[in-house]
Amino acid sequence: MISKDRYLSPQKWDLMLKAFSHELPTTVIGHSVLNQPVYAHRLGSGSKRVLLWSQMHGNESTTTRALLDLFDHFYTPNGVKLLEGLTIMVIPQLNPDGALSYTRFNANYIDLNRDALNLSQPESRALKEVFDSFSPDFCFNLHGQRSIFAAGIMGKPATLSFLSPAANPQRNLTPARIQAMKLIAQVNRNLQKHIPNQIARYEDTFNPNCVGDHFTSLGVPTLLYEAGHNGLDYDRNFTKKMIFNALIFGLNAIENGEFLNHSIKEYHQIPENEKNYVDIIIKNFDIRTVNGFFKNQELAVVYQEEKKDESVFFMPVCHSFSKKIDLLAHRVINGDGILKASEIEFAEGKSIDIF
Ligand SMILES: [Zn+2]
Repeated sequence: MISKDRYLSPQKWDLMLKAFSHELPTTVIGHSVLNQPVYAHRLGSGSKRVLLWSQMHGNESTTTRALLDLFDHFYTPNGVKLLEGLTIMVIPQLNPDGALSYTRFNANYIDLNRDALNLSQPESRALKEVFDSFSPDFCFNLHGQRSIFAAGIMGKPATLSFLSPAANPQRNLTPARIQAMKLIAQVNRNLQKHIPNQIARYEDTFNPNCVGDHFTSLGVPTLLYEAGHNGLDYDRNFTKKMIFNALIFGLNAIENGEFLNHSIKEYHQIPENEKNYVDIIIKNFDIRTVNGFFKNQELAVVYQEEKKDESVFFMPVCHSFSKKIDLLAHRVINGDGILKASEIEFAEGKSIDIF
């Protein structure tokens, strides 16, 4: 299986912005390791300031694509009104080198979301300089997650996940954290109407090297948005729409302050992200391993993503097998019939060519 939409290089993003019906105010906030420009767009003139950045992990493009819909919204009457109350700074691709190579890391193989204190990378320093000079009241840290997460134990797929990161090892409820939790509670309440029971919450172990934790510790409410999975939408176009909705809900709530009425209990009622999904389960499948031949097994398969030309290729690899797999799948296939008398050489993590 292949997705053309998931691969979003800086060049492709640039073409999308050129085809956009308005010219965005654009500045260069720094350069990547491979000397690609890192761009930011500043919109609005309101008193509340919101900083958003996306694709600090280069292979997480869904939230960046949702930003184009957000830019579109800013030129509608509702969007114009929103920007009277807010000033917004958007960094669509913090990690352009990772976006080009479709990797999580930057060109020095550093995870920019583990570099908040060291600031060893030019992209990390660019973000921190914007944070210091723009002085946001809120931050949205935009990411994408794998298709393995459920909203709660054996729940529905976690199509969106959130976190109000901890500000210290004790995970105290600092004023910034409480604001982020209330804001997520508001976004969750609105979003449940679109994707009931498909919203999850990350656990909050403190990591001072993560940007969200660091900015929260500096007193700025910082929300982690994670674009997740739904059904067989490996292009993540449905998720992109839900991210757009979640961004609008979040920005509107900041503008009108209504989120302050929520309790943090509502935040804690959001189910946790659980690793309960694989991409495919094949039932009634015969498997051969070095340990012998196993009839009528259930085989769990996960996709590994690989960039091929201008697309992302999803390579099926073996995850595990047993008489009864204790996991959920986005797709269940009956091997009996479709794959009659088939058998594979099984090894964990080995690719299989049955599709
Ligand atoms: Zn990420």
